[in-house]
Parts: sequence; C-alpha cells; structure tokens
Amino acid sequence: MATIIKGKALAKKIRENLKVECDKLKEEGIKPRLAVIMVGNNPASKVYVKSKSKACDEIGIEYEEHLLDETITQQELNDLIQKLNNKEEVNGILLQSPLPQHLDINQAFKAISYRKDVDGFTPSSVGKLVMGGDTFISCTPYGVMKMFEEYNIDLTGKEVVIIGRSNIVGKPLAQCCLANNATVTICHSRTKDLKTHTKRADILIAAIGKANFVTKDMVKEGAVVIDVGINRTEDGKLVGDVEFEKVEKIASYITPVPGGVGPMTIAMLMNNVIKASKEQSNKNSTF
Ligand code: NAP
Repeated sequence: MATIIKGKALAKKIRENLKVECDKLKEEGIKPRLAVIMVGNNPASKVYVKSKSKACDEIGIEYEEHLLDETITQQELNDLIQKLNNKEEVNGILLQSPLPQHLDINQAFKAISYRKDVDGFTPSSVGKLVMGGDTFISCTPYGVMKMFEEYNIDLTGKEVVIIGRSNIVGKPLAQCCLANNATVTICHSRTKDLKTHTKRADILIAAIGKANFVTKDMVKEGAVVIDVGINRTEDGKLVGDVEFEKVEKIASYITPVPGGVGPMTIAMLMNNVIKASKEQSNKNSTF
C-alpha cells in the first residue's frame, strides 16, 4: 500500500511559515500585495480566485481583485497589466486562466513584468527556468517539487514520465525534474503506445484533465504517482487523473485528489508573492 503524500498538511505548514515571514516584512514596513485579474464569469475560475484570496487573507498578504467584463479588448487587458506593473504597492500579478477566446493569453502573460510574475508564466521566467537562473517557478510544478523534498524522494537518475505538455504544468514540471537530475519523458495525446512509457516510470506524473485515465496496468510496481488532474465526475465528485483506489495498492507513494497537489499550488503562489515583495524591497536585488 502506498504512502499518501499529504499535500493539504504540507501546504498548511508552508502557509504558517509564510505568515511568520509576512509578519516580519510588515514590521519592516513592507506590505506584500497580490493583484488578481479575472476576465468573464468562468465558475471554476471564480472558485480558484476565491481560494487564492482566502489564502492571502490567512497569511496577511494584501489582495486586490480586478474583475473584467468578458468583452474586454486585448489592449484594455494589456493596459490594466501595465498599470499594475507600474503600481508600486503591487508585488505580484496573477492573470486567471482561461481567458475568453478572443484574447491571446500568451500576449497578456508577455505584458506582465517578470519581477511581478508570481505565476511564473512570462517568457522571462520560463526562459530563466530552462537556463537555471533564479526565477519564479510556476506554482503547480513548484508544489510538486516541494512534495518530493518533504518526502525525501530523490529524483537523481530516476525515470520520470509526465503525461501532459501544457505550458503551466507539463513543460515547467519537466524542467524542474531535469534540474533535479531525473531522466524525463513527456507524453501527450499524440504519444504512441502510452503504456510502454508509463510502465517504466519510477515517477509517474499525470497532468491530463481526464478522470481516472491512469489505470493500475499503466503503473510500475513501486512507482511514485503524482496526480495533478482535477476533474468533476457526473455525480459532482472531485477526482484526479489516476484511478486512485487501485493504483494506491501498487505505488510506493501517491497523491490524493482532493488534498494533494491542489493545495500545494496555492501555497507556492503565496510563497512567490512573499518572494516578490522581498526582491522588490531589496535595493541590491539582482533578480
Ligand atoms: P491541458 O492544457 O488541457 O493539457 C492536458 C495535456 O494532456 C495535454 O498536453 C494533452 O496532450 C494531454 N492529453 C490529453 N489527452 C491525452 C491522452 N489521451 N493521452 C495522453 N495525453 C493526453 O491541461 P493542464 O492545464 O495542464 O491541466 C491538466 C490537469 O491538471 C487538469 O485536470 C487541470 O484541472 C489540472 N490542474 C491542476 C492544478 C492543481 O493545482 N492541482 C493546476 C493546474 C492544472 P496534447 O498537448 O497533445 O493536447
């Protein structure tokens, strides 16, 4: 039976430590502040934005929300981003995805100052991640790496197989694993014979967005299984991409959904806001 990687508990510990750091910064007159931009009325986005504002509240990070009509133009969105780039009190800018189809999310990310890019999605942050510089690591991959650290899961020389190649999860996660000396394979919807790849993974990471997609026969005995997926079944239950009950029996470690990667993502976002505040208040920062 696998050890359950308790993301919720680890995230709580991280948030508590961040609160202490945030209190200290405030004593020095530094008030960490996150600005969130949301376009339109996507119900899932509303839930995510609410949990981010709650986490800020808990830690003592100031929070401002910019709710934009779904008819906003790219120029208007970019203008707002520019305004927030220039607003000294704002340390971190988060653009909630998805955006309505007429807007180009990459263009919007490009407009965010890399010094305030707490989601780690700008080309500068991604480039620095690839080249190995100090940067904001996007929150979900960062959260997964923290889980490995907490559970002493060493990636050196391990076969890591990631299913999913999105810019926000699969690709940055692959870079993080590579930086930790793993041998990384990224699979996607065009991968031939997916099972051949997943079956040889020492560490299997699912970031697909399809409920119970990874079945027991796709997993090597003793593998570490990280489930990034968040899916809602027809009866409203929240499940991951991995068939948890069956895979749990053969994996060495496994993350649950809910209570696994999800809470870690928010904790690492908070971590990045605190980091941004420190860097921006440090006159000698080379960040
Ligand atoms: P995405 O952009 O839709 O990417 C999904 C990836 O899965 C794509 O690369 C796609 O391949 C691949 N894929 C789809 N069907 C496949 C198949 N049959 N075989 C192999 N690969 C397949 O999604 P995302 O934004 O990365 O998110 C993935 C999941 O993680 C979602 O459930 C999302 O809600 C969740 N998520 C969770 C957190 C968290 O905090 N826990 C954060 C972010 C996302 P192609 O590239 O070829 O299309």
